[in-house]
Amino acid sequence: MSKKQIVVIGGSAAGPKAAAKARRLDESADIIVLQKGADLSMASCGYPYYVGGAFDDRDQLLCTPAGVVRNPKFYLNAKAIDARTNSEATSIDPQSHTITYKNLLTEETATIGYDKLILATGATAKMPPVPGIGLKGITTLQSMKDADFLRSVRDEGKIKKAVMVGGGLIGIETCEALQLAGIDVTVVEMLPQLLTFLDWELAKLVENHVRSKGANVIVDNGVAEFLGHDGTLTGIKLKNGTELDCELAVIAIGVKPNVDLAKKAGISIGASGGIDVDQYMRTSDKDIYAIGDCVEIPHWITGKKILAPYGDLANLEGRVAGENAALGDSVTFPGTIQTGICKIFDFSAGSTGLSEAALRTPLLPRHRSLHRDSPSYAKQDKGTP
Ligand SMILES: Cc1cc2nc3c(=O)[nH]c(=O)nc-3n(C[C@H](O)[C@H](O)[C@H](O)COP(=O)(O)OP(=O)(O)OC[C@H]3O[C@@H](n4cnc5c(N)ncnc54)[C@H](O)[C@@H]3O)c2cc1C
Repeated sequence: MSKKQIVVIGGSAAGPKAAAKARRLDESADIIVLQKGADLSMASCGYPYYVGGAFDDRDQLLCTPAGVVRNPKFYLNAKAIDARTNSEATSIDPQSHTITYKNLLTEETATIGYDKLILATGATAKMPPVPGIGLKGITTLQSMKDADFLRSVRDEGKIKKAVMVGGGLIGIETCEALQLAGIDVTVVEMLPQLLTFLDWELAKLVENHVRSKGANVIVDNGVAEFLGHDGTLTGIKLKNGTELDCELAVIAIGVKPNVDLAKKAGISIGASGGIDVDQYMRTSDKDIYAIGDCVEIPHWITGKKILAPYGDLANLEGRVAGENAALGDSVTFPGTIQTGICKIFDFSAGSTGLSEAALRTPLLPRHRSLHRDSPSYAKQDKGTP
């Protein structure tokens, strides 16, 4: 029997998990991972802690529990997986079972074949479409490059004032990181509460705790404009006219799934904007699976398909797709009740299932829920935490 070729596109959380699972179950398969960035298997959840100085060694974001950095050499030697970094998949041809990719360092392109393909292209941070968004000093905390930049901000110690745009999980963790770096932080949240996965009363406890640590919190107000001088950020104008001075703005208003590659290949996209998959994590093409932040999955309680961009789900989905790609469709991923937890200074805040507000409005996925009495209820963002 000829060897199976399994190709994975995306080399951060879900992709390498799928590749490693496939390797454990099929020793003879050729397994290739194409990763756009320079790093592999980044622990994104650790970015705020690196930025905030909880640890100083960047490699800790990339290494195994035994301290070995997961780079192409590690994947080749330890797992016989051919992980190609700086390699962006640019098109998929499902008819010929081929993928074209570009080496971003040399600009060379190449085409490889697959028997089974796994898409793990992740998600991209949403940016508010307001004037001044291109000013220098505006960033996100979504990639290793962003983490490197914000860590350099901490180390240089020149920035005195920052605004965190978005009071979700990433926004609050980044607020803590910047505050611990000695920066005066204001969190601006468009909705009436921080951490919308919490019930309103609990979110208010978190808000008070964040304030008690010295950060300023403004809720029920959005960014109208980024203000600048000579192309560099100097402040933010809010929708109610308030102006805040700042030299740094970090945007964390949600993410959108990276589905362009799949869409161009004719793969079905679901109503929420994520790639549509079945219980085997299989897309509308039987030889192509999709996993992680780029897919939509069922919510157990509402039965609706939702975007659920969480690392634990990405890892579980990766194992399922890896096993199915290696052995044929046998294991299933049942969906989620969305359990999440985060640290906020001295507090830990978590939730599982639906919040009270989401239960009162069952068509809304939990993370989009709002306090039912809020005047801003109608203007909620369709984003994810
Ligand atoms: C700051 C931060 C904190 C977080 N904290 C938590 C937390 O506490 N708990 C939790 O559960 N989750 C958390 N998350 C979310 C979690 O990190 C993500 O859900 C998880 O990383 C998703 O994994 P993924 O592999 O689907 O996507 P990603 O991690 O986004 O990886 C996708 C990879 O695919 C690559 N790629 C995209 N397109 C191509 C292409 N065409 N060719 C080749 N490669 C491509 C990208 O460069 C990227 O490296 C956090 C995320 C961030 C940013």
